[in-house]
Amino acid sequence: MSDAILPGATLGMLGSGQLGRMFAIAARRMGYRIHVLSPDQDSPTGQVADREYVAEYEDLEAVREFAQGVSVVSFEFENVPASTTETVGEIVPVRPGGHVLHVTQNRNREKTTLSEAGLPVTPFAPVRSEEELRVAVEALKTPGVLKTAGGGYDGKGQRIIQAASEALPMWEDLGRQEATYEAFIDFQGECSLVAARGVTGEFVAYPLFENEHANHILDVTLCPARVPQQVREDAEQIARAIFEILDVVGVLCVEYFWTQDDRLLINELAPRPHNSGHLTVDAHLTCQFEQQVRAVCGLPLGSVRQHRPSAMVNLLGDLWEGGEPDWKSVAAHSTTKLHLYGKHEARIGRKMGHLTALADDIESARSNALAARETLK
Ligand code: AMP
Repeated sequence: MSDAILPGATLGMLGSGQLGRMFAIAARRMGYRIHVLSPDQDSPTGQVADREYVAEYEDLEAVREFAQGVSVVSFEFENVPASTTETVGEIVPVRPGGHVLHVTQNRNREKTTLSEAGLPVTPFAPVRSEEELRVAVEALKTPGVLKTAGGGYDGKGQRIIQAASEALPMWEDLGRQEATYEAFIDFQGECSLVAARGVTGEFVAYPLFENEHANHILDVTLCPARVPQQVREDAEQIARAIFEILDVVGVLCVEYFWTQDDRLLINELAPRPHNSGHLTVDAHLTCQFEQQVRAVCGLPLGSVRQHRPSAMVNLLGDLWEGGEPDWKSVAAHSTTKLHLYGKHEARIGRKMGHLTALADDIESARSNALAARETLK
């Protein structure tokens, strides 16, 4: 533990959205200082940081100056260019390391790495040419999902292919960029597992989360997930293997499809805290952001014991369509916690905040969270 980065030190964050904000809040509570770098001014993270560097990730001079002022750097935006993390890495550690980003920034690379390690991924084929597209659709059949290999999130850069004849026009619609074709999975449900691994290899996993999506965007998360015990154990075992294979130091989320025959297929990885883990802030002894602080600073990891069954619902920009939501009435829900990210502009589909409800059972937590959100409209 001799090289641990202790409270009082300054931590660096690449990316300045809500994930960086909640990391900064957790870090500050523990007595750390926070510097953030991103192209945005007065950002969700910048508002709670000690210093906000406003620069493009490609501005390596600014990146160097940023890195010189901190003891370690983590990120909340996984599409940071490799040159940025390499530049930081010459000055202070980047955790998780650039090799993790390299794998997770490209769906084909990610799925190939995982399947070559014998881990269960959604059946897929890479698409870099018309010929590969034809072969992929022939092998995996329709329906399927065509996804851009890089840069996509919240269902952006995805097209559902119902018939083989749609494949080429859909790929053209995605700009003929490198893509992944996946079999469409008729799943029972979607789950995610957030875990952390420290510099010594210590591994701690949160209980499995159960996720409901709307328009490809996470809508509701429940913890604990209502799945068979074996599925929970499999989820943790697969995640542990991923952390070892990628040598992750930090927090990573594995998103799964839970199939009709109780298997898990890896959908994708996020090498950082995840939206589905937001309920840990209110419902668990150590939240995913504190765990990220502990892991990247080389501290022992914290207990993930859950206080009570809990449900999280996202607050998207859509809620602002009729004007400012009714914050006073949501405050009347005394077992529901409001989180807002300080974003200046509400847009359709943009994550503006979330609510977490705690209750005696998972069904009550879910209905309380949804009822609280209704009062905002
Ligand atoms: P992603 O951005 O890959 O996480 O996809 C967003 C959401 O789209 C997922 O959480 C699923 O609800 C849905 N989806 C993505 N890929 C598939 C698939 N191969 N089969 C069925 N649904 C999918």
